[in-house]
Amino acid sequence: MSEIILEGVDVTKRFGGVQALSQVSFSIRKGEIYGLIGPNGAGKTTFFNVLTGIYLPDEGAFNFEGESLSGLKPNEVCARGIARTFQNIRLFGNLSALENVMIGRHVRTGATVWGAITRNGATRREESAIEARAHELLDYVGVAHRANDLARNLSYGDQRRLEIARALATDPRLLALDEPAAGMNATEKLSLKELIQRIRGDGVTILLIEHDMKLVMNVVDRLVVLDYGRRIAEGLPRAVQNDPLVIEAYLGAAPDGAAGGAAAA
Ligand code: ADP
Ligand code: MG
Repeated sequence: MSEIILEGVDVTKRFGGVQALSQVSFSIRKGEIYGLIGPNGAGKTTFFNVLTGIYLPDEGAFNFEGESLSGLKPNEVCARGIARTFQNIRLFGNLSALENVMIGRHVRTGATVWGAITRNGATRREESAIEARAHELLDYVGVAHRANDLARNLSYGDQRRLEIARALATDPRLLALDEPAAGMNATEKLSLKELIQRIRGDGVTILLIEHDMKLVMNVVDRLVVLDYGRRIAEGLPRAVQNDPLVIEAYLGAAPDGAAGGAAAA
């Protein structure tokens, strides 16, 4: 069995009376594509927000590569090697696709605004390296032809790919994707699946929140299912898909198309 890259230990998060996460424990192996599913409101995005330092957990902790992430701020979590995308796309709409990826890279290199203003020799060299890498990443995710277009003018599917490029610009070892297929058509979903597999093939472990049950079950190695903040199932896709608790959670919530997908073995 390969080594554990990320584990959650009794992660708990409350918002007032809402128990968004309730003692959630799991572990992801290095090199896995690991799914996180559950009906709307199950706590999936909250899970990402706690993981990436946006929220402090009320109890429990995440350990990444054997070290606790407790108390780290989002930029510090990123520096440890975890990058994410957002369910509600967060791009700088009035910047070009290229610039959006370059910003992700700046987070990684620590290039300063002062350096960009003064533009000394070292900064210029660093800037051109950042730009070259950003071009590579746009190509990698399949939006190289939109490099100079404003992010807001890209199609929804291309914006999602651009977000992935920006996340990859931080050189993560774990990439967390929050519903990357949302708003994509069937063709786009198929190529997204290939992209996710390619990223994993290049050595990045993937944590995937996804609503599209067919996509999830086809792409993940293992997955965990949340319902009302609780872990109700974990394991291989086939076993999870046939788990009565999972079927009930989806049939009860009846999200778009997911119920049939979960129930269909
Ligand atoms: P999912 O991503 O699985 O759809 P979320 O993690 O977004 O679920 O939400 C889980 C629960 O936590 C929901 O009941 C939601 O309303 C609540 N919640 C999430 N974020 C906040 C917040 N910032 N303040 C208050 N309640 C929140
Ligand atoms: Mg969500």
